[in-house]
Amino acid sequence: MNDCIFCKILSGDIPSTEVYSNAHVYAFRDINPKADSHILVIPRTHIESAAEINADNSELVARCFEAIAEIVRREGLSKRGFRVISNAGEGAGQTVPHLHFHVLSGSLGAF
Ligand code: 5GP
Ligand code: ZN
Repeated sequence: MNDCIFCKILSGDIPSTEVYSNAHVYAFRDINPKADSHILVIPRTHIESAAEINADNSELVARCFEAIAEIVRREGLSKRGFRVISNAGEGAGQTVPHLHFHVLSGSLGAF
């Protein structure tokens, strides 16, 4: 997906601030944070949105959530609590068509 911003982040063509990385998942800080802590968790495979999840790729969703649990432990967010949000479709506010999970903690803005 040549023109996908998040694929370009995965390839290193667009710089990002890494929070967590493994063979399947990458997590980085949102460029425009809407909470004290705003982290984006994405699969390394290009999937457009949650509407495209099926039996063949749903393992990646599990990998993302395993990563989220590890990230909140590392960042000390579990006590404060956090939200996980995935916008699917422009009508729901999705602006980057590569599946991603917002992990938000602390005082929340528009979310
Ligand atoms: P969406 O609106 O699709 O649910 O979320 C996309 C998120 O990606 C937004 O919160 C936006 O701030 C973030 N974002 C867009 N472009 C970049 C970028 O180049 N780098 C980083 N770190 N975040 C980005
Ligand atoms: Zn992509």
